[in-house]
Amino acid sequence: MDKIKIKDLEVYCNHGVYKEENVLGQKFLVSATLYTDTRLAGITDDLTKSINYGTICHKITQFLKEHTYQLIETAAEQLARFLLLEVKNLEKISIEIKKPWAPVGLPINTVSVEIERKWHTAFIALGSNMGDKEGYISQAIERLEEQEDCEVVKRSDLIVTAPYGVTEQDEFLNGCLELRTLRYPLELLKLLNTIEKEANRERKIHWGPRTLDLDIIFYDDLVMDSEKLTIPHVDMKNRDFVLQPLTQIAAHKRHPIFGKTVAEMLRELKEQ
Ligand code: AMP
Repeated sequence: MDKIKIKDLEVYCNHGVYKEENVLGQKFLVSATLYTDTRLAGITDDLTKSINYGTICHKITQFLKEHTYQLIETAAEQLARFLLLEVKNLEKISIEIKKPWAPVGLPINTVSVEIERKWHTAFIALGSNMGDKEGYISQAIERLEEQEDCEVVKRSDLIVTAPYGVTEQDEFLNGCLELRTLRYPLELLKLLNTIEKEANRERKIHWGPRTLDLDIIFYDDLVMDSEKLTIPHVDMKNRDFVLQPLTQIAAHKRHPIFGKTVAEMLRELKEQ
């Protein structure tokens, strides 16, 4: 992606672990790389189609002066989040905060923290087979949309499907959505679990009836396997009720391990 770079913007502000630093303040140097598509601005010569680096410098200065953090790690984290939420068309940002006057009691040129943060794309499967199924699913979508660090980009139609696993239970309502999010995978899972709990979900029988089930199917092209979370979802290729709605919104999305598109996986499942 194209980059707009800001180097060593000087900001006098009050971040630090020591009280004196919070009171007296000191000089910080901020560098930022803004990842955005500049093609349209490049063709039209129109600033409104790009990101105004002057505005960004003022926003950085104001943000770092208005807040006081102990750590430059926190200053960088919160500044990156603020800019990703605030600036249209900013997909990814790299921020370095240097502290040339860091009180280490030794001759030093500078210490710094550099981080990279971005918007991620996750695909979420939704399911319900108890009570007001459509209501539980709508409530989950609403709760996701309420989060400032999540944006529902696309949603599939809801389909009625036969129960999976334990088959003597009510039929399911299933759907999928595409989510743009700043959350890391485990942070996203925590949010989904909270939303499930709010829907009074009871976890009595594995694969048994549930008011609401929310699963992460894909998260960018990430492959991860931990005790709590497996991405891509381990059973997705066997689940018609995931692949069918997912095909509606992401037919060409390729599974990062199998190398097959969602549409191909659905076709193969139907052939089996
Ligand atoms: P279930 O009862 O099928 O909804 O299982 C939920 C649990 O599965 C969660 O608490 C997670 O810890 C775990 N899990 C593992 N991988 C995933 C995933 N991709 N999406 C959601 N939950 C997952």
